Parts: sequence; C-alpha cells; structure tokens
Amino acid sequence: MQKNPVSNKPIQSLEDALEQCQTLGMRVSRQRRFILELLWDAKEHLSAREIYDRLNQQGKAIGHTSVYQNLEALSSNGIIECIERCDGRLYGNISDSHSHINCLDTNQILDVHVTLPAELIAEIETQTGVKITDYSINFYGYRNQSEDREQGVGSRE
Ligand SMILES: [Zn+2]
Repeated sequence: MQKNPVSNKPIQSLEDALEQCQTLGMRVSRQRRFILELLWDAKEHLSAREIYDRLNQQGKAIGHTSVYQNLEALSSNGIIECIERCDGRLYGNISDSHSHINCLDTNQILDVHVTLPAELIAEIETQTGVKITDYSINFYGYRNQSEDREQGVGSRE
C-alpha cells in the first residue's frame, strides 16, 4: 500500500481522475463518475448545460443542481479544467497546463500541448525579470478555409 501525499500528480486518464478524487477524500458518487466519464469521452470543452443535456440523453438521470455542484467541486480541486468565457464557463477533461486553439468560425476550443524553446523562455525571463514556471497559450484561427465556409451551416437554432 503506497500512500502518496503528492496531490499534483498529472491526471492523464479517467482512472487518474477517479484516483485523484479518492486521494483528495472526495466521494466518487455515481453522478460525479458520470460527469468525469463524459468529459474524458467527449474530450471537448462543454458548458454545464451541455453536460446536463448529454448525460440525460444517454439516459443518465442527473439534476441541474447536481451537475453544477459536481463541476464546481471537480474544478476547484483541479481534477477538471474550467475556462471562464464571456458567455459562461466551459469544462474540460485536461487539468494540467495546456494551450488552446480557439476556432473563430466554429467557436470550438481545442486542447494542445505546446513546448516553447528554452531560449525563448530565457529571453522572456530576461525581458521581464520573472522566473517562468508555467505557461498556457491561446491561439486563434479558422478551422475551415474561408472559401469553403458554406452558408447554412449552423443555421439551426
Ligand atoms: Zn483545455
């Protein structure tokens, strides 16, 4: 039996996420497991509303309040990611630091792990006098070529 008090072990799978809940003494209720399974399965950034809808579509009955409370508990404990956007919060499965590609046409946010060259980091440190320990970059762009953007896409309400 190893008891590892290190709480910031990177979470790389659903199993790691569940294990981390236990390490932190969080109860793994059925609802909590549903949410984690959905996020690891979808690998997208979803709103609480979308999470609620998808779980209920899958026949996993879960209330609004339970979805919100579980997302809050999981994100505040660093088990899932929470992004604040002007139109609300989005939740993702990856909790360690990563970068995002923001698709301006589809409004999706894709996760990407970017490693900057050590010289660039050293240069920024020299410029600012700040010792960099972590970073996350936001990229912006278009998923589709502008010519290919068909009308009628997304016209459903
Ligand atoms: Zn993310």
